[in-house]
Amino acid sequence: MYTFEKERQPFPLLFANQAVFETNKKAGRRQIKFSVDRTMETHQHALGIALGEESMSYGVADSDGKLLFRGVRSVEAGISREGIIENIIKCIDDALFWCEGNKITLAGLGIGTPGIIDNGLILGGAENLPEWDNLPLGGLLSRRFDLPVFVDNDKNLEGLAEFRFGCAKGDQDVVFINIGTTIGGTMIINGRLYGGHRNRGAEFGHLIVEPNGRRCSCGAAGCLEAYASTSALLNDYKTFSKQKRAAAAISQVRQVADRYLQKETAAVKSFDLHFDYLATAIAGLINVISPQKVIIAGELPETGAFYMENLRKRVASLVLKETSVFTSVVPAGLGDEAGILGAAALVFERCGSTNLHPNGNLEKVS
Ligand SMILES: [Zn+2]
Repeated sequence: MYTFEKERQPFPLLFANQAVFETNKKAGRRQIKFSVDRTMETHQHALGIALGEESMSYGVADSDGKLLFRGVRSVEAGISREGIIENIIKCIDDALFWCEGNKITLAGLGIGTPGIIDNGLILGGAENLPEWDNLPLGGLLSRRFDLPVFVDNDKNLEGLAEFRFGCAKGDQDVVFINIGTTIGGTMIINGRLYGGHRNRGAEFGHLIVEPNGRRCSCGAAGCLEAYASTSALLNDYKTFSKQKRAAAAISQVRQVADRYLQKETAAVKSFDLHFDYLATAIAGLINVISPQKVIIAGELPETGAFYMENLRKRVASLVLKETSVFTSVVPAGLGDEAGILGAAALVFERCGSTNLHPNGNLEKVS
């Protein structure tokens, strides 16, 4: 195979996968043109693994976002770091066995994990996974399976999945916010996943929305997460409710939503507070980024049409008209497949196919 200097190789990973071929080489002056083998492109496959608190889900997807194989492995509470890695290895073995039986070659493995990830190294912030800090997970698995392995924050990857395969397909500028017991998210800017310098940003849950406000798990005060997470909504409901014993039994946001729809005062007050803070943060993000979509993921948009209607109304009342003219605030579309598809999308993002960004901020793990 023809080789040339690394700095002149615009699509190194594509080349490595033989999806790009030199089509024109003249003696003397080097002239190189590339053509992309579209047949090979459409047949790219990747294994995606999404690490959760109680389980890890995994699957093999093609580069159109079709999930061809899916598995889930539950993880017992209190398991050690080695135990988690052992479970990840079992997921990979299972998927590789399926691939072998179906004559599928993987372009690589993508993993979504909680925490801040810099170049395949988990720096910290994964409170629910024991001893996960400073873990070179990508390098470790890459060596064991001789596969390109890419690791990124789980919420980054869910956003990437919506951008590549879901409700923001075809868009260029997107903000993705996932609301659960914590708040995470990511940005796609100019068609590229953007996590800030060395992938340390996009911590939307820690946007400060109330000076000297509620204490946040990060140690700061007044973060969005302390006001608009699902745990904050449930706590607010319990605080506002006069029937303390009945309120103490409420453990799902859907239950608070049902009471909101029945116009129960405590539920209305807690949702109003939630909408106020969340809309404040979203309006600020729209004013700065002016995205085409703000995607809201998590269980809240599924509690009823009232949720997105109220949120949109409040955002519209706060945001600048000029920055928001092309913005729509929408619920996420991929549901529980987003984690796996996002992890697979990370492989396609880094290994080629239609949206190749060779100089993206997520580096290949070596
Ligand atoms: Zn915080």
